[in-house]
Amino acid sequence: MSEPIGLFGGTFDPIHYGHLRTAFELWQLLRLEQVRFLPAGNPPHRESSLAPAGLRLSMVRAAVAGQAAFVVDDREMRRSGASYTVDTLLDVRREYPERSLCLLLGMDAFLGVPHWHRWREIFDLAHVVVAHRPGWKAPITGPLGEVMVDRGTGNLRELHAAPAGRIFVHAVTQLEISSTDLRALIQANRDLRYLVPEAVRELIITSGCYARPQR
Ligand code: ATP
Repeated sequence: MSEPIGLFGGTFDPIHYGHLRTAFELWQLLRLEQVRFLPAGNPPHRESSLAPAGLRLSMVRAAVAGQAAFVVDDREMRRSGASYTVDTLLDVRREYPERSLCLLLGMDAFLGVPHWHRWREIFDLAHVVVAHRPGWKAPITGPLGEVMVDRGTGNLRELHAAPAGRIFVHAVTQLEISSTDLRALIQANRDLRYLVPEAVRELIITSGCYARPQR
């Protein structure tokens, strides 16, 4: 069987080293053929204003340039309307009917999964790989706790042996960086150096996308 494909979705508003380091460590650990970065088009759970989709996409492209195993997949941005993970997975599954697909999520995102559209189907379409984030604990009760009991595994080989269906939780190097904090830093006229790739920092400066509106 070919190596699994990792799918890493997010608003990436902006992309930062917390995302990139997580993707890199999971790529290595899980021996993924590639990690596809999927910037969200019109996120259903998000009300705050975003940098324009095209700019978020450019930032993701700039961030992964030079890392051949990191691929930018703009299918959610090309789709009109809300971008639901279940639709994205159905789409990718059509392209790769037999392949192991690993949906990569931070623990905060994983805990929100029961609020996602048709969330139970997600586990039949892909494996879910959860990266620990600082301060978040794996669920042991509620609907996700039950799903963890049925589908949780500590055995990496299971992610290669079947195309979907398992949940694997793994601690990655903890980088306490969030896009929300980065946007706040810009608003406070602080420098994002060493928190985001230099090319992303430059795009943020030249576009002025997170700067406080001038009165
Ligand atoms: P925001 O602060 O705007 O909510 P964010 O920094 O959490 O953004 P997203 O684009 O919403 O970034 O996250 C995409 C994915 O990356 C999610 O699965 C999220 O859990 C994960 N993620 C975000 N920041 C980190 C981090 N520092 N370490 C590991 N995973 C992260």
